[in-house]
Amino acid sequence: MARIGFIGLGNMGGGMAANLAKAGHDVRAFDLSEDALARAKAAGCLPVESAAAAAKGAEAVITMLPAGKHVAQVYEDSVFGAADTGAILIDCSTIDVDTARRVADAAGAKGLLAVDAPVSGGIAAASAGTLTFMVGGGDTAFERAEPFLSDMGKAVIHAGGNGAGQASKICNNMLLGATMIATCEAMLLAQKLGLDPQTFYDIASVSSGSCWSLNTYAPMPGVGPQSPADNDYQGGFAAGLMLKDLKLAMEAAGTVHADTPMGQRAAELYAKFADEGNAGMDFSGIIKMLER
Ligand code: NAD
Repeated sequence: MARIGFIGLGNMGGGMAANLAKAGHDVRAFDLSEDALARAKAAGCLPVESAAAAAKGAEAVITMLPAGKHVAQVYEDSVFGAADTGAILIDCSTIDVDTARRVADAAGAKGLLAVDAPVSGGIAAASAGTLTFMVGGGDTAFERAEPFLSDMGKAVIHAGGNGAGQASKICNNMLLGATMIATCEAMLLAQKLGLDPQTFYDIASVSSGSCWSLNTYAPMPGVGPQSPADNDYQGGFAAGLMLKDLKLAMEAAGTVHADTPMGQRAAELYAKFADEGNAGMDFSGIIKMLER
C-alpha cells in the first residue's frame, strides 16, 4: 500500500479519497475547508495542514479541484516544491486542455511525471468507486497512475498524451449537452404532435434516434428507466457543471479553429438556463425551459 497525497476533498474528492483509504492506502488529505477535512478524517484519511504536507513523501499526488487556475496554483505553490522525484502527479479535476498540458510540461521540467485524469460519473460514482477515468500522459506515467485510479473507478482508459484526458472529457460532455437538448426537443415535439411520450420513447430508443440522453436518462418523468426527471430534476449532473464543461469545449474549439455550431448553441442554452437560477438543477431539467 502506498502513501498518497490528496488535495481537494469536495463533493467528488471526498468520496475518492475515502475509497483510497478503504483500499488500505495511507492518504494524507488537504482541503481549504475544515468541514471537508473532518469528513476525510472520519473516512480514514489523515488530514494535514497544507497541500505541500500532503505532497511530501507521497508516491502519488492526486488533485480534485474546481478549475485550471486552482490546479496551476496548487502545483506551482505547493506540489512542485514538495513532491519527491518519482512521485506521479494525477489531476482528476475537469480543467482546460492548455492548462493541463502546461502543468504537465512544468512537472516534466522538474523531473516529475504527471497525467490529467478527469472523470465521468458524478458524486454517487465517486462515493461508490465506479468512476470512469480518461487519462492523458505518456506510457510510463499512465502505468504509474493506473493502479491508484483503479481503486477509485470501474474503468481507466489511456486517451493519449498530456491533455488528451481533458480533450476526451470536454468532447464527451459537448456531445452529451447537445444530445440532451435534442432529446428534450424531440420528446416535447412528439407530445405536441399527439404522441404518448412513453410510446415515443419505446420507438426512438430502439431506432436511429437512440442515444444515452434518451435511453438511460430520459428527461420526462415516468418515461424510460429511473432518472433525475423522476426526482423533480434533483441530483444527477448539475446544469452549472454542464455549462462549465461546454465553456471549456468552446474555448478549446477556438484554439484549434474547430467549427462546433451545436456545441455553441448548447452552451448558449445552458447559460440561459443557469442564469434563470437553475445552475444547481440536473442538466436534464433544461426541458422545462424548452417547454415554456
Ligand atoms: P467541489 O467544489 O465540491 O470541491 C472542490 C474542493 O476543492 C472544495 O472542497 C474546495 O475547498 C477545494 N479547494 C479549492 N481550492 C483549493 C486549494 N487551493 N487547496 C485545497 N483545496 C482547495 O467540486 P466537485 O464537485 O468535487 O468537483 C471537482 C472537480 O471535478 C471539478 O473540476 C468538476 O468539474 C469535476 N467533476 C465534478 C462532477 C460532479 O458531479 N460534481 C462530475 C465530474 C467531474
